[in-house]
Amino acid sequence: MLLDAILMALFLPCLGMASIFIIYMCLLWYATTHPTSSAAILKPVINTGLSPSELQKIPCIFGKELVAGPECAVCLDDIGEEESARVIPGCNHSFHKECADKWLSKHPICPVCRAKLNHHDPNFSSQNPC
Ligand SMILES: [Zn+2]
Ligand SMILES: [Zn+2]
Repeated sequence: MLLDAILMALFLPCLGMASIFIIYMCLLWYATTHPTSSAAILKPVINTGLSPSELQKIPCIFGKELVAGPECAVCLDDIGEEESARVIPGCNHSFHKECADKWLSKHPICPVCRAKLNHHDPNFSSQNPC
């Protein structure tokens, strides 16, 4: 009888440990086999891009008006003089309008210097919007 009790006392924690281990392995397996689903859960928390109406407020100019270099860091192509470009308020980095919109709708940061876009910045809508 005493031996039974000792065995049970040893067996139960082992069973508990084993079930925790199995659950852990299942979670690990799920995380490795479903990388997109776990990323999708984290994404809205970390990266909430700009909405189309917020994108409209980002200053937009022509390539010839650019103060900094004409290279777009998203597609690594030059911004032509007659092409429209978006200028990130604050850091003044510029990109093709389409490239900037595509990037900023997913990430609310400058692709060059990672400066965070501040929706409440007064510069945000003071310049000519497209
Ligand atoms: Zn571009
Ligand atoms: Zn920047």
